[in-house]
Amino acid sequence: MAIPKKSIVVEITNSCCNKCYSCWLDNKKVFMNAKDLSKALRKIPDIEESVIIFSGGEPLLHPDLKELIIAVNDITNFKPYILTSGSL
Ligand code: SF4
Repeated sequence: MAIPKKSIVVEITNSCCNKCYSCWLDNKKVFMNAKDLSKALRKIPDIEESVIIFSGGEPLLHPDLKELIIAVNDITNFKPYILTSGSL
């Protein structure tokens, strides 16, 4: 796999199922909505071979993760990735 020219990391939630001692998040179950993500994505110039990485918290806990991925695919040519803790 080629290294992407640019990576954008978006923290889509501060919610997590783990309780790591060193974690800096407050786990208050805040979730980014698709409308806010779409608004932010429209301000980013398209760059080929770029990726957007959904992180958290645990991004797989996001109830609207599918809508966020659809927003990325509709608005940008970025490839969406999910950075999970792997515990779900
Ligand atoms: S997995 Fe990551 S986000 Fe979750 S508690 Fe641990 S450090 Fe925090």
